Amino acid sequence: MAEGNRGQAVVIGAGIVGLCGAAYLQRDGWSVTVIDPGPPGESCSFGNAGMMSDHTALPVAMPGILWRVPGMLRDPMGPLAVRWSYLPRLAPWLVRFLASSTTARVERFVADFGTLLERAKIAYAPLIADAGAEALIRRRGSLEVFETEAAFNRARWGLELRQRHGVPIRALGGEEIRQIEPALRAGFAGAFYREDMDHIVNPLRLSQGIAEAIRRKGGIFVRGEARAIAKRADGKTEIATDTAPLAADIVVISAGAWSKKFARDAGARVPLDTERGYHAMLPRPGVEMRVPVKSHEGGFFLTPMEKGLRVVGTDELAGLKAPPNYKRLEPMIARAKTMVPGLDADGAEPWMGFRPSFPDSKPVIGRAPGLPNVLCAFGHGHFGLTLAAVTAEAIADLAAGRATKLDLAPFAPTRF
Ligand SMILES: Cc1cc2nc3c(=O)[nH]c(=O)nc-3n(C[C@H](O)[C@H](O)[C@H](O)COP(=O)(O)OP(=O)(O)OC[C@H]3O[C@@H](n4cnc5c(N)ncnc54)[C@H](O)[C@@H]3O)c2cc1C
Repeated sequence: MAEGNRGQAVVIGAGIVGLCGAAYLQRDGWSVTVIDPGPPGESCSFGNAGMMSDHTALPVAMPGILWRVPGMLRDPMGPLAVRWSYLPRLAPWLVRFLASSTTARVERFVADFGTLLERAKIAYAPLIADAGAEALIRRRGSLEVFETEAAFNRARWGLELRQRHGVPIRALGGEEIRQIEPALRAGFAGAFYREDMDHIVNPLRLSQGIAEAIRRKGGIFVRGEARAIAKRADGKTEIATDTAPLAADIVVISAGAWSKKFARDAGARVPLDTERGYHAMLPRPGVEMRVPVKSHEGGFFLTPMEKGLRVVGTDELAGLKAPPNYKRLEPMIARAKTMVPGLDADGAEPWMGFRPSFPDSKPVIGRAPGLPNVLCAFGHGHFGLTLAAVTAEAIADLAAGRATKLDLAPFAPTRF
């Protein structure tokens, strides 16, 4: 289908999810306009760990997490922390989060999530080709290392669950770990090696490449803030902005952690919040790492990137307004130094970003209940880089009125 034949699509948000959405709609014959107050890919999509796989994953709320709540409240530097001042607003989200951690619900999650993830890389392939971004991908797998036997043994349930779902993940011990990543110290209690894990060495450049490909094919980027969505008398949808309003035949809500108000305009009341994550970019780490390594106890990755080593991850439940607490990076860097002898953290550049998160760790992908030509694509939490293209493919199918390649019921905006 030729560019623009289907009508006008407006995409709210130029993060990786909105960009992939715009690219898929454009390939399918829509004229696309993307509105964002900032440049493409500079919000949460900028600072992630770059990990991307095509087999299922575990949710954030795992069995036993309830017992970690006192620690989450007590230690603002911990891998999963809650700010006291945000607790009253967070409480309903937190209750749903804890309720998602039963064995039965985690098993259901792993099955549902697998259906999305198995198309993750397939759906990216045409966008990566268009963006000329193949060189940004390293296909080397990843490690998760454990400092204590107790933690290693506790994690075996999640290992076996993933293995049952076909994830190419296996437990390693002793020297096997250093054969995969020689930069690590000896003496970890164990590790999991995951073969299907790729990593993107510069997530910002991936977003920029996709944005450039959209522009080349005639897509328009508007620098501005969307304010509200409403139906017009002529059947089109109007997006009020801080400048001129935009008219659309199809609207995609992909404003990441800021999507909730647009969803409400379109009849979906969703418990979206944010899991804030941090990174320190080490420009001259002094060691070369081959594969990304996750510290199980620390809740962060060490990802080798184009411009250094990124110490990245953790989870802080503190809402969209509180300033970053960069002190959280200190224990991450200290632990990283114990994992990788000789690691140099001089000149570390701090960053914090807002993961758009639902308590059940699943995104919302589907038609808005109140305005059928408004499509929801947000709330990808810890997996937005991975899931952006498969979400976009589903959004393009919905926009065209085609059957989707996967069952979207587990991700419906009406599931709450
Ligand atoms: C520390 C960390 C590590 C991570 N690691 C990984 C990983 O390894 N693998 C993985 O798959 N995922 C990872 N993620 C998650 C992933 O980065 C996110 O899920 C993803 O970036 C979300 O993309 P998005 O497009 O939904 O949101 P964003 O990138 O935040 O984009 C949303 C956009 O909407 C715009 N916007 C906001 N309000 C408005 C408005 N009113 N009008 C118009 N535009 C608006 C914003 O300016 C922004 O550009 C990680 C996240 C963090 C924080």
